Amino acid sequence: MLKLMTPGPTRVRENVRMARSLETTNPDLDLEFYNYYKETCELISELLNTKNPAYILSGEGILGLEAACASLTEPGDRVLVIDNGVFGRGFADFVRIYGGEPVLYTTDYQTMVDAAALKEYLEQDHDFKYATIVHCDTPSGRLNPIQDICPLLKSYGILTVVDAVASMFGDVVQVDDWQVDIVCGGSQKALSAPVGLTFVTVSSDALQAMKQRKTPIASFYANLTIFENYYENKWFPYTMPISDIYGLRRALENVKAEPGIYERHKQVADYVRDTILEAGYCIYGKNGYANTVTAMVIPNGMDEKSILEGVAKEANIMLAGSFDVFAGKLIRIGHMGENANMNDAKLTVEALLKVLSK
Ligand SMILES: *Cc1c(COP(=O)(O)O)cnc(C)c1O
Repeated sequence: MLKLMTPGPTRVRENVRMARSLETTNPDLDLEFYNYYKETCELISELLNTKNPAYILSGEGILGLEAACASLTEPGDRVLVIDNGVFGRGFADFVRIYGGEPVLYTTDYQTMVDAAALKEYLEQDHDFKYATIVHCDTPSGRLNPIQDICPLLKSYGILTVVDAVASMFGDVVQVDDWQVDIVCGGSQKALSAPVGLTFVTVSSDALQAMKQRKTPIASFYANLTIFENYYENKWFPYTMPISDIYGLRRALENVKAEPGIYERHKQVADYVRDTILEAGYCIYGKNGYANTVTAMVIPNGMDEKSILEGVAKEANIMLAGSFDVFAGKLIRIGHMGENANMNDAKLTVEALLKVLSK
């Protein structure tokens, strides 16, 4: 098997794989499991620096994004979709599916969203129920300053939905200090658990907006209010994927046990970017570089396939291309979670530079 240096799914540590193989109980009927689930959710909230409750949903990262939009959007609602990347723009689809009117605020994909420019825009128009923004837009490697943007939106009474799937646990996320109403995460990125789970934290303002709807939420699986009171009532809306949650818990404990986790990601990210730049190649974008992924511009005359195959052959390492508007244009190194260590970063960059020089 090739060694993963992709921006998710990432490598999974042995203790997480072992946790997924533990004997399982009936998660609907075993009251102990309600405690286990609740404690796991509390650990998520703790690691994301929030008092807001977290919920683990049975579905891949995309479910969290859709659930946030499904739960907040009522027909006719205007929603500000902050678009400076592929995932950023993608939120418009979810808003539309649930009858909302997405209003795109599109900026250059090479730069992070500029809070001062957004403020000028909002002064003219701020009639939005909520706004969506991506923290790390993985296809381009952009990291947006949600620490500036979410408080700004909040000052206009606009709720915020942040896709932090590819940033959290590699770049710091401070949900409460940054006033993020709903943050969406996934198991398979920097958390380094296998694919399959998403989790969200929900603020009291967001919950209130869901409860004050005039129309019912047009989904069951993507309805975030169905988890309310699960603990008091000892009743999950559907049977929880217990083995996945055992693995997730271990992965969260791994994060908690490593106070230097953000420093590690930064060190690896700096090394990868600096070395590629020193060798004379380009990193996509002008600012806002994520610590979880680096997107290198494919030099003229070279193609994605031969670079990816070359690195696989040279060092037994799997890198990724990109997609959508970046298809065939970028090579991405995922230095997130278990992938993010200096040893593998060196092997990866050396192999990549060797392949490029051929
Ligand atoms: C990975 C990722 C998701 C989840 O989407 P998949 O492509 O289905 O894994 C959502 N948002 C961002 C920013 C991601 O990187």
